[in-house]
Amino acid sequence: MTKFRTIKIYCAKCNTLLYKYYKAGNGHLVKCFVHRIKNDYTNGDLKCPKCNTEFAHETMAYRKPAYKIIQGKIYVKG
Ligand SMILES: [Zn+2]
Repeated sequence: MTKFRTIKIYCAKCNTLLYKYYKAGNGHLVKCFVHRIKNDYTNGDLKCPKCNTEFAHETMAYRKPAYKIIQGKIYVKG
């Protein structure tokens, strides 16, 4: 059975909280599934609302909409 935990995703440049996210497993965060985002603090444009850094691109994963993280633009806690 897959276990989920809540992580917080921050902008690496200005430390703004971007998402709270239900993550499966302990692996490195490569992409976010849109349906597993618990709280979205962005304007929905995949840019940091504070410093305007683009941190992800829209993609599809397992036929579901997802955001592919641009490595180095974000960091994760939790
Ligand atoms: Zn930022």
